[in-house]
Amino acid sequence: MLIPVPTLTELELLDSVPNGLLIGGQWREASDRGTFDVHDPATGQVLATLASATSEDAIAALDAADAAQASWARTAPRTRAEVLRRAFDLVTERAEDFALLMTLEMGKPLAEARGEVTYRAEFLRWFSEETVRDYGRYLTTPEGKNKILVQHKPVGPCLLITPWNFPLAMATRKVAPAVAAGCTMVLKPAKLTPLTSQLFAQTMMEAGLPAGVLNVVSSSSASGISGPLLKDSRLRKVSFTGSTPVGKRLMADASHKVLRTSMELGGNAPFIVFEDAVLDKAVEGAMVAKMRNMGEACTAANRFLVHESVAQEFTRKFAAAMGALNTGRGTDPATQVGPLIDGGARDDVHALVSAALDAGAVAATGGGPVDGPGYFYQPTVLANVPNDAAILDQEIFGPVAPVTTFRTEEEAIRLANASEYGLASYLYSRDFNRLLRVAEQIEFGMVGFNASVISNAAAPFCGVKQSGLGREGGSEGIAEYTTTQYIGITDPYGR
Ligand code: NAD
Repeated sequence: MLIPVPTLTELELLDSVPNGLLIGGQWREASDRGTFDVHDPATGQVLATLASATSEDAIAALDAADAAQASWARTAPRTRAEVLRRAFDLVTERAEDFALLMTLEMGKPLAEARGEVTYRAEFLRWFSEETVRDYGRYLTTPEGKNKILVQHKPVGPCLLITPWNFPLAMATRKVAPAVAAGCTMVLKPAKLTPLTSQLFAQTMMEAGLPAGVLNVVSSSSASGISGPLLKDSRLRKVSFTGSTPVGKRLMADASHKVLRTSMELGGNAPFIVFEDAVLDKAVEGAMVAKMRNMGEACTAANRFLVHESVAQEFTRKFAAAMGALNTGRGTDPATQVGPLIDGGARDDVHALVSAALDAGAVAATGGGPVDGPGYFYQPTVLANVPNDAAILDQEIFGPVAPVTTFRTEEEAIRLANASEYGLASYLYSRDFNRLLRVAEQIEFGMVGFNASVISNAAAPFCGVKQSGLGREGGSEGIAEYTTTQYIGITDPYGR
């Protein structure tokens, strides 16, 4: 594969992205003038060089967030809602720029990046609507003597830490509800894909967000940012999306100040195909649930549990569809599968595949890295995967689908639940009663019935077990950024 030369449009777009830290409404360089490079995973070329925030910069960002908190909390909900609504309009107007930027820094095919912009901008619109509907309650105490008033208040300055895989979505899912609730923020994007957050923060400022409400500290040292902030009493919350091991560490660090935490962590989604599924629909669904974002998604179908009577046909059709996909740089319109994020990610995926093959699995298609520049991996379907293979036990985060079989509904439920994770799950069957029965028994925060895309701004995105705590989206999303205050009211005259 030849290394493509960036087009003029790409260069102009990269040039327009702010490369500093956003602190108190100003873009500035790092206190030690340090920088880090952002790479194109399809070519390995440097796309941009950004200021790399230090611990001192992190504290300066919290100073700005703290200074803005009181007036932002007092700002009328309608005003906060209108900032979000304008941001939705601006992101939608600049959808092509956001999509191209995500493709350049993350690798996903452009068509997919466009879909992410449309869908993820929805969090801005949804929370602009929720801002003015954050209801409290007023009621009489059961014995009838007093009144109970319950109101919601912004939790206060928040630290938001996002992963590299959905650069726009992960930012909007946190920033929009925090803005809606009246919180100020310090956002730390992943160092592998910070450019989209930089452009998004610039867009939020253009939409009228006051200085200091959103501060952005991209950095090559994640713990250099989180460490001092989690020790600072002015910080009131940490909202993290990323891997379970890092989430656990942050929860431990957040415990010192008893901080509110939202943890959106890893997944290991089962994709269960029952014998009565519409098989072609199940294959179509499997392609989307597996291949969105090249498999680099917390919701990615990771374990294909297929009834033994249809496993052979399912695997054959699935492997044919996977084997026909075009791999390439995401900017090429013919590309359906982009590169993995870096060489380490590709090595990890290949180690899991090799171990599964050694344990007796068979590659129905793919099975190895693609030669050339960039971190490409062949779309892979593995059949006859033993139930105790490591590949079924952890996130694959790549375009690899292990297929294993079951005989009974009970066995499918047991296999699905045999994971420390509990984020997304997918069930394919024509029998609605069965779907409901299985949903009752599987331990997952989200379940798709014959549906391969379940995330939606209007629904609570959530995991159980080691997939996390907290909800993003839906009417639940704003509650992550508010505290509840109860006021007990007695008539001063004792009437
Ligand atoms: P990661 O945990 O390595 O990093 C996530 C973020 O945490 C990044 O910004 C990173 O710089 C930062 N970080 C890393 N170490 C840190 C530390 N010691 N202190 C403070 N911050 C630190 O995860 P990743 O590789 O960026 O993302 C992939 C993971 O994210 C997968 O496990 C995936 O399932 C998960 N994820 C979950 C959801 C969800 O909603 N549940 C969504 C997307 C991704």
